Amino acid sequence: MTADHSHLGTRAVHGGQHVCPTTGAVMPPVYLSSTYAQASPGVHQGYEYTRSHNPTRYAFERAVARMEGSTLTEAQDASFGGFAFSSGLAATATLLDTLKSGDHVLAMDDLYGGTHRLFRQVADRSRGLEFSFVDLTDLDAVKAAITDRTALLWVETPTNPMLKVSDLSSLAEIARSHGIMSACDNTFATPMLQRPLELGIDVVMHSGTKYLGGHSDVVCGVLGTNDADIAQRIRFHQNAVGSVLGPMDSYIALRGMKTLAIRMERHCSNAAMIAAQLDASDKVTAVFYPGLPSHPQHEVAARQMQLDGIPTGGGMITITLDTDLAGCRRFLEAFEVFALAESLGGVESLVNHPAIMTHASVPAAHRAALGITDTLARLSVGIEDIRDLQADVERALAAI
Ligand SMILES: *Cc1c(COP(=O)(O)O)cnc(C)c1O
Repeated sequence: MTADHSHLGTRAVHGGQHVCPTTGAVMPPVYLSSTYAQASPGVHQGYEYTRSHNPTRYAFERAVARMEGSTLTEAQDASFGGFAFSSGLAATATLLDTLKSGDHVLAMDDLYGGTHRLFRQVADRSRGLEFSFVDLTDLDAVKAAITDRTALLWVETPTNPMLKVSDLSSLAEIARSHGIMSACDNTFATPMLQRPLELGIDVVMHSGTKYLGGHSDVVCGVLGTNDADIAQRIRFHQNAVGSVLGPMDSYIALRGMKTLAIRMERHCSNAAMIAAQLDASDKVTAVFYPGLPSHPQHEVAARQMQLDGIPTGGGMITITLDTDLAGCRRFLEAFEVFALAESLGGVESLVNHPAIMTHASVPAAHRAALGITDTLARLSVGIEDIRDLQADVERALAAI
């Protein structure tokens, strides 16, 4: 089988999947076995040891690969260029392991706090990589920052937490013309809204903990690629480094992803209404939401992020409030439906204070330069009834 040409809503349910040939089971069995019997040394049915290959992990990996529009065949890669890891950060770290010491990584300036920490406090020291952080929405700045040692362009779009949007086709073209591998953290948009591989990006990455799993009940990470050589390198390192996703977690993530299409419809329509509500409030000084015409990269977003052909801003909103830290705390504590918690992308609505919570590991000066202030709040809009979410936002604004 080559690329799956069915519509995304169908792919979310069936992509890369087949009914169990032995029993007819519609969902894949959870193969907990760590090892597999061999008829003679080296003679087996394709499975030796679960770190290297696991049928349940393959099922999830193939599903994600097809959602992301991978075109690799089974002969080119056993899981069609999809790879599952024990967390999003494990996926990113394994991709860094495919580089060599001395390589330069050109990264987006606004990134998930943990990615920033992995780059600045771990990989620069342990792997000998050099990192620069540049605003990738500025293509001239990107070209100026490339050196002859640049081996990876790392983009996150929309970014966490400022929701900056980068133009993936242009970045892919710049990277390709310099022989640089490009990678995109697609956690916020999900393949329902944005498929980086189809825009020429070499590697797509996800924290599957968020929208793919979708129920705040599993931690997992994913890499995907359309390039058979890169797939081979990732496959080697996934096994050689060993931070693989377990069979049970693979099953939970796969089950969650089956409803991605309908969940994203509701996340996006709810978030658009909450963004408009916040935008109309005089207690809110700025709303960062790619779906609003006031967003600095609204045009790129409208082209790049679409739900079934219709532009959408996604399910995440970041705001600044006309108050101080104490007022922001009152706002965050007053919610009754939104839970005050880290993470995002689950069915339940969450609100977060990046400066104290998810992005505390980003150095204070860097946070200030990006605008991650004490009155900045990030909302992950869930799939609850919009009327209860609107009432909850009113309640929180009134508490400031
Ligand atoms: C959460 C997150 C990650 C890290 O993923 P984990 O599964 O928590 O390791 C990476 N990128 C983004 C955008 C995230 O939101």
